[in-house]
Amino acid sequence: MSNSALDCEVLVVGAGPTGLIAADLLKRSGVDVRIVEMRAEATRESRAFAVQARTLELMQSMGLADQMLANGVMTTAVQMHVQGKFVGGMNTDRANAPDTPFPYILMIAQSETERILIEDLAALGVEVERGLEATELHQDADGAVATLRDDAGATSTIRCAYIVGADGSRSVVREAANIDFSGGTYAQNFLLADCKVDWPLDHHHFRVFMNGRRTGLFLPLGGSNLSRVMATDLTSDIDDNASTPLPLDLTELQDAFEKSICLPAKLSDPIWVTRYRAHHRAAEKYRAGRFFLAGDAAHIHSPAGGQGMNTGLQDAANLAWKLGAVLRRGADDELLDNYHDERKPVGEMLLRTTGKLFTAAAGQSGWKASIRDLAAKTFLPIVTRASKFHRKGFGNVSERNISYDLSRYVGEGPRWPSEGPRAGERAPNVRINNDLDMFELLKGYQFNIVAFSRLPLSSDESGKVRERLKALTDEFSFAGSHLIARTAFGFDENCIFANGPDVFDCYGVDSAENNQVVYLIRPDNYVAWRMTGFDFDACRRFLKEFGAHATSAQRQIAAE
Ligand SMILES: Cc1cc2nc3c(=O)[nH]c(=O)nc-3n(C[C@H](O)[C@H](O)[C@H](O)COP(=O)(O)OP(=O)(O)OC[C@H]3O[C@@H](n4cnc5c(N)ncnc54)[C@H](O)[C@@H]3O)c2cc1C
Repeated sequence: MSNSALDCEVLVVGAGPTGLIAADLLKRSGVDVRIVEMRAEATRESRAFAVQARTLELMQSMGLADQMLANGVMTTAVQMHVQGKFVGGMNTDRANAPDTPFPYILMIAQSETERILIEDLAALGVEVERGLEATELHQDADGAVATLRDDAGATSTIRCAYIVGADGSRSVVREAANIDFSGGTYAQNFLLADCKVDWPLDHHHFRVFMNGRRTGLFLPLGGSNLSRVMATDLTSDIDDNASTPLPLDLTELQDAFEKSICLPAKLSDPIWVTRYRAHHRAAEKYRAGRFFLAGDAAHIHSPAGGQGMNTGLQDAANLAWKLGAVLRRGADDELLDNYHDERKPVGEMLLRTTGKLFTAAAGQSGWKASIRDLAAKTFLPIVTRASKFHRKGFGNVSERNISYDLSRYVGEGPRWPSEGPRAGERAPNVRINNDLDMFELLKGYQFNIVAFSRLPLSSDESGKVRERLKALTDEFSFAGSHLIARTAFGFDENCIFANGPDVFDCYGVDSAENNQVVYLIRPDNYVAWRMTGFDFDACRRFLKEFGAHATSAQRQIAAE
C-alpha cells in the first residue's frame, strides 16, 4: 500500500489515558495520527487517582504539568495502620528526591487527566473520533486495516501503517494480533466510593488499613468534601462477565470500611460508587508486526501502589518517538521491536511488585492475616525509621527507578564518567542557575544533545563548541542542543551559564578527567548515549541510528 493510499499513518484504538497521550505524542513527533473511541462521551469515572512523579515529568515536558497541579491535590505520605493503630509509612519528604520537581504523589481524577489530554490533543489539531468501535483488524506487508462500527451499526474502514491498541484490558487489537494475555483474578473483591468522609483522622494522607482479612484504603482527593474509600467486600461475589456490577449501597461500604479501619466513619454525598475486582494479566508480546499494545491492553494488575495508568502513559512515551523515527526519518523498523524489549520487562516487574504488595496487604485471611498484622505492628515502626526505606519506596512508586540500561539502543562512548546517569537511565532534574533547571531545558518531547563543560570556556572556545552543536542540529533537526558551561566572562550568548557545581555533580562532570561530557537525551527523558570529551563525530554517528537506516554494525561503530 503506498503512503497516498493510507487514511493516516497511525491509528490509535481507544481514548483512555494511554490512547490520548499516545496520539498526542505521535502528533508531536510529526506523525499523521487518528484516534477512535467506542464511547460516545468522555468518561466521568474518577478511576485512577494517583499520578506519579514520572507522569508529571512527562506532562511537564508537554507543557501540561501546571494544569495537572492546578486540578489536583498533592500528598506526601502513605500511612499504614494495623487494627486501628498507626504503625509507620512512606513519606516522600524523607525520600530526599531533589532530582524531580514533583517529590510527591498528585491526586487527580482520571477524568480530569483525560480532559487535559483531550484539550491538548484538540489544540494540536486531532479530535477524538467518538462512537466508533474497532471490530476487525487486519495487517499484511503493505499496511493495516481497521473496520469500525458506529452507533447506528454502519461500518467504515481506516487504512494505516500501524495500529496502537490502547483499548484496555479486553483489547480487540490484542485479540486480532493473537497475543496471549495470561494471568488470573485476585480472590478479593472491593467496595469503592468517591464521597465525603467524616472521621477522626485528617484528609491529607493516603492511608492503608489492615485488620485481619479486611483491608481499607483512604485517598485524599479534595479536602474534607471528597475522598476515595475502598474496603474489602466479604459478602458478595463479582461476575466478571456481567456488563454492570451489582448495585452498591453506601451503608454497605461504610460498614465494611469501619470494620477495616477500627474507627467510626460517616460516608455521605457519593459521586461514584462501585464494586471492583483486581486482575493480574500480561500480554506475551507488546508488538505483532504492525500492531502495538500499550496500557491496560498490555498489562493489568492490582491497584496497589497506584501504577496502572502511570505505566500506560510511560508505554506511550516510549513508543511514540520510535514510531515517529521510523515514519518520519526512515529509521530501521528494528527500532520498533525495541518498544517490546524495553517496556515488557517493566510490565512484568510491575505485576510482580504490585502483586506482592497486594497479597501482603489485602490477600491474607485466618492465621496468616493474624501473623501479617503482628509482623506489621512489630517491624514497620522500625523499618520506616530508616531514610533508605523512603528513598527506595518513593523511587519505585514514582517510577523514577525504571532503567533501560540493557537496551540495544543505548550506549556509551569510548570513555564516560563513573558518576551521573548511565546510558538507559532517566536523566535527572537539577538546578542549572537561578533561572533555569534541567527539565525546563529538556522540555518538548524531543532529542536533546547537552554538552557540559566544567572547565571555564573563553568566548572563542564556547563559540567553536556552539558551531559544532549547530552543525549537528542542522543535520538532525529532530534534536535540540545546549552547552552548559562555566564561562570565563560570566555571560556568554553561546552557552547556558551554570552558577554552581550542582548540575555538573549531578551529571558526573568532575573537575579532573571528566570535565567535558556530552549527553544525548531521548524524548522520553532517558539517556540514549554519553561520553567524556567533546567528540561530536561520535555523537553524530550515534544520532544517525535514529535518523537513518542504522545496522547493528553501525551501532557497534558508534559505541566504539
Ligand atoms: C475502579 C477502578 C479504580 C482504579 N484505580 C486506579 C488507581 O487508583 N491508580 C491507577 O493507576 N490505576 C487505577 N485503575 C486502573 C486505571 O484506571 C487503568 O490502568 C487505566 O484506565 C488504563 O488506561 P488505558 O487507557 O490503558 O485503558 P482504559 O482506560 O481502559 O481505556 C481504553 C479505552 O478504549 C476504549 N475501547 C475499548 N475497546 C475499543 C474498541 N474496540 N474500539 C474503540 N474503542 C475501544 C474504551 O472505551 C476505553 O475508553 C483503576 C481502575 C478501576 C476500574
